[in-house]
Amino acid sequence: MQLYNTLSAKERAELIDKAGKDRLTLSFYAYAKIENPQVFRDHLFLTWNELNVLGRIYVAKEGINAQLSLPADRFQEFKNHIDSISFLENVRLNIAVEQDNKSFLKLKVKVRHKIVADGLNDDTFDATNKGIHVGAEQFNELIEDENTVLVDMRNHYESEIGHFKNAVTPDVDTFRDSLDIIEEDLKDSKEDKKLVMYCTGGIRCEKASAYFKHKGFKKVYQLEGGIIEYTRQVNDQNLENKFLGKNFVFDHRRGERISDEVIANCHQCGNSCDTHVNCANEACHLLFIQCEDCKEKMEECCSNECKDINRLPFEEQKKLRKGKGNSNKIFKKGRSEVLKYKNSSCSI
Ligand SMILES: [Zn+2]
Ligand SMILES: [Zn+2]
Repeated sequence: MQLYNTLSAKERAELIDKAGKDRLTLSFYAYAKIENPQVFRDHLFLTWNELNVLGRIYVAKEGINAQLSLPADRFQEFKNHIDSISFLENVRLNIAVEQDNKSFLKLKVKVRHKIVADGLNDDTFDATNKGIHVGAEQFNELIEDENTVLVDMRNHYESEIGHFKNAVTPDVDTFRDSLDIIEEDLKDSKEDKKLVMYCTGGIRCEKASAYFKHKGFKKVYQLEGGIIEYTRQVNDQNLENKFLGKNFVFDHRRGERISDEVIANCHQCGNSCDTHVNCANEACHLLFIQCEDCKEKMEECCSNECKDINRLPFEEQKKLRKGKGNSNKIFKKGRSEVLKYKNSSCSI
């Protein structure tokens, strides 16, 4: 019985090309009590591997958080399977705004302590006492209200390439950091201001809204389904789109365009650009914004040092890395002294 991914990314990419079929990228989450996450995890892997699902899925005692892709013509089978699981019946599936057949190249289903690394101790507050969920139309009205404070619950490298007009975008590397900064910043308006928050697909606001209510905020709202669902509703209902730029996503696409504005700069030359890349030096892999000119000049690297290393034969590179520990984290925080034009456009 195969319970884990066995193909390399390269092998998988070739298979996808060979199949020549459209794939659908989507995400969903649900908070629910799962008694035995390991058993549930194995069940998901077996069923989804069979359906040719690829993606990154976290399962915990508190629920499931899934980002994945699957062949478009197997969507109904997938949906039937989801609906056969009681707590996932009719769960909202956030279909990606921009599709890419290679958004994911492996199926990874992992058992975690939590489905979002939020750094919160859930025993200290009532996580079910959430904010009011609003759809795109009501959200658009709310954020024009002068008594509203609109807060982006994502990290700096996400809001840097796209955010809602007038949003507060904390300059943070983690979700946990943003909570304290926001609380401190808004401590005098807990009673009277409307605190409206959003994130990529809604999951981060589920905990954040409950946390802020626990901290004494009286009027807390959250964007239902996040930026992805907002964009769908805006298009469906012909509403004004108040989101500027790109929506950062955690797969190979790295971002999906929501509006034509480019609000970020190349971190190496400062020119207008909002394309995230990872440094080509495998041992660095820094996430940063790089324009086409710099990409060519720097050979897809973040610095001259990385460029030199990247030019060495692979075996030499491996020798250099030996014993140094692996910093090969795809979404390294996107900060480095080598990036001259990494600006903190963040508003608090
Ligand atoms: Zn550049
Ligand atoms: Zn580098």
